[in-house]
Amino acid sequence: MGCPGAGKGTQSALLLKKFPFKHISTGDVLRKEIASKSELGLQISQIINSGNLVPDELMIAMLEKIVESSEQGIIFDGFPRTVKQAEALDEMLNRFHKEISAVIMIDLPEEEVVDRIVSRRQCKACGAIVRVNSKNPATHCEACGGELFSRQDDTAEKAKHRLNVYYQDTLPVKQFYSNTGKYFVVNGNQTPEQVFGDIQKIIEAVK
Ligand code: AMP
Repeated sequence: MGCPGAGKGTQSALLLKKFPFKHISTGDVLRKEIASKSELGLQISQIINSGNLVPDELMIAMLEKIVESSEQGIIFDGFPRTVKQAEALDEMLNRFHKEISAVIMIDLPEEEVVDRIVSRRQCKACGAIVRVNSKNPATHCEACGGELFSRQDDTAEKAKHRLNVYYQDTLPVKQFYSNTGKYFVVNGNQTPEQVFGDIQKIIEAVK
């Protein structure tokens, strides 16, 4: 868990290098649906571009298929984003005889968020996330040479709206998990490697 720009995607990528998890980024799943130019993709595109959340029912139905067919441990990146989704996830995992090992909140001060979002770029080829600024005005991925792009919902105005949506709809999810004994907070205002070090300790402890 974490607000937009907290580093969920970056940390998921680092986790995948170290552990045999399946990574489900609901944002990526939705963006793929948009890229397929389906009718559903068109509807989703409007929602994402407005910075609002895609309806719970749709998200839950999309996730169910993936969870049911997965044999590996799963990193949920960007899900659940509402209490209703958290409740549905519990119900779904029970049904499939699976359970949550850890809910990790990457905590980031509000003043960092917008700056991080407007300066982030993603590689079209490998999906890596990088930050650009005057010192690093990169246009291509250092790792694979792919072209970097800025997400359509990564403007300052949309980032502020997404942050409001986060406070209103997603922060209550923190309450949902905080008394389960499985809720952990890491400081997201460190280098990606330091954040990863903290997350790795949690994963090792709950394994
Ligand atoms: P992300 O890539 O996680 O930043 O997600 C980008 C956008 O996809 C969000 O602003 C939402 O519009 C939508 N989205 C991603 N995950 C969810 C979710 N679990 N529930 C509803 N909408 C979502």
